[in-house]
Amino acid sequence: MDPPVIRLAHCQVQVFCLQVPGACPSCGEDLRERRLQEAPVSLPSPFSNAHKTSCCLLVAPAHNNTTSEFDGTSDLHTGISNTEGVVYNYTRAGVVRELSGWERCVSVPLVRPDMFHLLNQWDQYLQNHSEGPSWDPTWHRFDEQHHNCLSFCLSFVNRVLAAEGREALSRETFTQIFILPRVQRVQKYLFLYKHLQTHQYYLEDRQEDRQEDRQEDRQEGDIGGHTGGDIGGQTGGDIGGHTGGDIGGQTGGQTGGQTGGQTGGQTGGQMYLM
Ligand SMILES: [Zn+2]
Repeated sequence: MDPPVIRLAHCQVQVFCLQVPGACPSCGEDLRERRLQEAPVSLPSPFSNAHKTSCCLLVAPAHNNTTSEFDGTSDLHTGISNTEGVVYNYTRAGVVRELSGWERCVSVPLVRPDMFHLLNQWDQYLQNHSEGPSWDPTWHRFDEQHHNCLSFCLSFVNRVLAAEGREALSRETFTQIFILPRVQRVQKYLFLYKHLQTHQYYLEDRQEDRQEDRQEDRQEGDIGGHTGGDIGGQTGGDIGGHTGGDIGGQTGGQTGGQTGGQTGGQTGGQMYLM
């Protein structure tokens, strides 16, 4: 397990580090003697072990991807977990049900924990869906652009929404609202992490943070809460299959001054699809 990123506030800055430094990198004051305005906090990891999730959409680097990382350029693969953490995902070979291999991924909870009638039927819905002819390689061929892992997930979600009397989601809405923000959060976290492996700390202006915190309080937490600078450079990458369906595209990537963005500690209100 990687050590967590620690955030602490001192004088005008927020300091992100893996180990609390002896002195404030901004004003030089000894941090061991002085009381900090706020206790240092560990930032929660944006990764989940899919096999410990229930009823989630999962996003992980595609298996064929050499770095196996959310670096913004790699292809991503998607799947859906049943209530026992088994990940159903559509591949060229049809739907596979995996009990391992999704230990470090982004999870998007789909069902509110009090939706008992839905939770009770989820596994059956998912099993039925995965047995449909659309995903049987003898009937339908996997297509990187138009009939891929994300097609499987989205059509499942829409099938459940229909059973609930709700309207279907477009591929664009689904990715923009439910997938992309979380993938971007991971990319920002990884960018910060990478920085901290070669630099002792990352500094951010507290003044700015305060203002933006207020604006973002009600939004779902980007890793933390503030500046919002896109630090990942190019985010998004291809979700869905192996080269197909570019859902992210570019989110514009300033890596300069505004780095670190969104690294505070807000967990935000959970947004469920159903
Ligand atoms: Zn200081």
